[in-house]
Formats: sequence, structure tokens, C-alpha cells
Amino acid sequence: MMEPHLNIPNNHPRAESIRVRERLIEGEERSVVTKSGLFAHGRGEAFDYLIGEASMPSALSAARAAAASLLLASHPVISVNGNTAALVPGALVELSNESGAPLEVNLFYRTRERELAVRDALLAAGATNVLGVGPRVATIPELFSERRIVDPEGIYKADVVVVPLEDGDRTEALKRMGKFVITVDLNPLSRTAQTADITIVDNIIRAIPNILTAIRELRSMDAESLRSIARGFDNKSSLSASILFIRDRLTALAEGRG
Ligand code: ATP
Ligand code: MG
Repeated sequence: MMEPHLNIPNNHPRAESIRVRERLIEGEERSVVTKSGLFAHGRGEAFDYLIGEASMPSALSAARAAAASLLLASHPVISVNGNTAALVPGALVELSNESGAPLEVNLFYRTRERELAVRDALLAAGATNVLGVGPRVATIPELFSERRIVDPEGIYKADVVVVPLEDGDRTEALKRMGKFVITVDLNPLSRTAQTADITIVDNIIRAIPNILTAIRELRSMDAESLRSIARGFDNKSSLSASILFIRDRLTALAEGRG
């Protein structure tokens, strides 16, 4: 049974953030989101509060580099977990269509029920083909049990993988498999943020639309120009810029200049 949800007045100062929480609670009731997914959202929200709930300049540059890398990829794939399917199903479908990267259900806590629930959330948002559901044979080496299963037509053979809100162990395993990893993670200190090739330190609800906007802007560029955008991006510097942004914002707030 669905719980009756709060009716949040539009003028409530935290209306948007509360609505996002509600989407995750509804997702949990449909088995799209796990209980640990709800905790993960809380960790993300705390960082979003520090960032000021708006895309930082470093996040916009990272989204642009991600768009260039996706346009240059031979076999790009977008990995979808419960939280991303609950929060941005429509934007993921649009990103898949615009980039030619298929969507793959890729769950840390994989059960048949959740696989189908996440796939159904994507189909309801307009997806036509969803990988990672049903019997698959490929596995990520060194990871255990259901956490390591990937689709042979998807992540297994991909050169560029978009893995938003991913766990650190799994990101490290993808790197060891030689993948170019693009992630979205509000915590610039997480192992995933530190390990990926491109980390967009931003809320997924802003980051995916930002990648889409950048793809539309860059689509007409030649490969050489795209390569120079991708090469010009350095993840270490981008993470440093994100941490310094938070520091400076906190300093301004503490001194009453916020
Ligand atoms: P790691 O395993 O990378 O060291 P962790 O164990 O703290 O990190 P995980 O649950 O493995 O966290 O990964 C989820 C990550 O997603 C967290 O860093 C969290 O801050 C981030 N996150 C949660 N919700 C969002 C969101 N809406 N947008 C962007 N990032 C988010
Ligand atoms: Mg983790």
C-alpha cells in the first residue's frame, strides 16, 4: 500500500528537496529503491546543502567533458540503479536517445523483482530497449555475488560507462577492466568520485539535464574539437575546485556574506 504523502506548499523553503525525498520513498514502495538507497540519498543531500543546491562551475565543466566523451565513444553505456531510476527516469531516456548509449539496469542489491521494477520505471518513461535484465553471462572480475553481473552487450563491452551514484568498489573494478568512467556524485571525497575519469559533483537531478544540454551544444563539432574538450578536463583539478568552492561558500556564510 502506498502511504499518503505530504502535500507540500510551493512556497515552502525546502519544497523541491522534500519532493525529491518523496519520489525516493515512493520508489522504495515500488521496490525500485532500497533502504540503503534512502540512506545514500541522505549523504548526497547533506553535500547538496553545502554546495547551495545549484550546479557549481566545476560541475558544468565536468558535464561538458562528459558530453564530449560520450559523443566520441564507440560503445557508450548508461548504468541505471534504483535511485537514478526513481529520480530522473525521463532524463535518462533522453540522454540515451541523444547519446546513442543504451540503458543498463545495474544494481548493487540485485533481485529479479528489483531488476523488473527498475526496467519498468524506464519503460514507463519512454525507454524502448533496456539491457541488464534476465539471464546474462558476463561478470566483473573480483566483485562478489550479484554485484558483479553485467550485460555482455552493455557494460561488459563498453568503452565509456556512465555510472551515477555508484559504489567505490564497483567503480574501482570498472577501472581495472579498462573502462572510461563518468560518474555523478555529490560527495567529492567518495572513493567513486576520486576513482572516476570524470566526476560531476552535482545532484543527479541537475547533472543529467546539464549533460543533455552540453550534448546538444557539442553535437555539431568535429572529433578533433571534441577530443580537445575531453583532454582539457582533469578530474583531480575539478574535484579540488569543487572542494574549494564548498570551503569558500562556507567561509562566506560563516562571515555573514552568504
Ligand atoms: P564510496 O563507496 O564511493 O566511497 P559511499 O559508500 O559513501 O561512497 P555509495 O552508497 O557507495 O556511497 O554511493 C552513493 C553516492 O551517491 C554517495 O557518495 C552519495 O553522496 C551520492 N548521492 C546520493 N544521492 C545523490 C544524488 N541525488 N545526486 C548525486 N549524488 C548522490
Ligand atoms: Mg560505497
